[in-house]
Amino acid sequence: MRAMLIDGPRRPLRLADPPQPKPGPGQILIQVKACGVCRTDLHVADGDLPNPKLPLVLGHEIVGTVAALGTGVSRFRAGDRVGVPWLGWTCGECGYCRGSRENLCDKATFTGYNLDGGYAEFTVANAAFAFPLPEGLGDTETAPLLCAGMIGYRTLVATGPAERLGIYGFGAAGHIVAQLARHQGRRVFAFTRPGDAPAKQFALDLGAVWAGDADTAPPEPLDAAIIFAPVGLLVPAALKVVVKGGTVVCGGIHMSDIPTLPYHLLWGERVVRSVANLTRRDGEEFLALAPQVPVRTEVQPFPLADANEALRRLREGELRGAAVLTV
Ligand SMILES: [Zn+2]
Ligand SMILES: [Zn+2]
Repeated sequence: MRAMLIDGPRRPLRLADPPQPKPGPGQILIQVKACGVCRTDLHVADGDLPNPKLPLVLGHEIVGTVAALGTGVSRFRAGDRVGVPWLGWTCGECGYCRGSRENLCDKATFTGYNLDGGYAEFTVANAAFAFPLPEGLGDTETAPLLCAGMIGYRTLVATGPAERLGIYGFGAAGHIVAQLARHQGRRVFAFTRPGDAPAKQFALDLGAVWAGDADTAPPEPLDAAIIFAPVGLLVPAALKVVVKGGTVVCGGIHMSDIPTLPYHLLWGERVVRSVANLTRRDGEEFLALAPQVPVRTEVQPFPLADANEALRRLREGELRGAAVLTV
């Protein structure tokens, strides 16, 4: 099969033809139709995340069809349309797993990091961690739901009932979360890289009530803010614009260092927290909610062999919405 392989940190992906994987017990073989390109893929490629499987097939926003079943799989049938997210497996036994927080399982494995992912014609996944997908969106448009959508949803839930919601970084996750937030009657204030006029227009097109530079103050204080951009400097910036009792949620897996900040920015029961990974329940809730909104995704498709170019454009902020590899 064709696959884009990464051999080590800070090296370009290379087109290769490894053998087609075989599904083990409890696994499914998936013929990949589309795979989203997530900022986490950049962090894995750059060596920001320790100890990836190598060589590795990146990609954890996989949409495809079930091509074969391993033993003991009853959840899917051959030909089913299926999605594979970041969370690839959890132990099911630890305190986190038993306490509805499997996203924090110490033994968890992740698609496109510890497990081969979807920048390939075929991949295998643990059936218990794959999702049946709703109709209504094509394969390419569905791919960003598997991470930007699902983890974005968890991030939105972490803000509580905030009515005035700031979103820092208006990429794949931001553009989906904005639609969910509007559907829930919240008002979205979008913060983009200073001077990035297209990103501001994109946010306004999706219903943001205001869009401005990340280092400026919004026209009114906010009840909560989500930071999707991997920029630690934004934590004090966001704390400055949320009201007492407000929450700042860091939605990314990696961020540059957070600078020291005066305590009065945190005082007033403001909360800074992160969101890590997703639970299967997050995925199920989001996939049930998305068609009700209905969530529409803005995608830029790239052929599988152009994965390096898709990653470059994500790094440079040259994308409107989400990059998706079509296979
Ligand atoms: Zn992701
Ligand atoms: Zn566990």
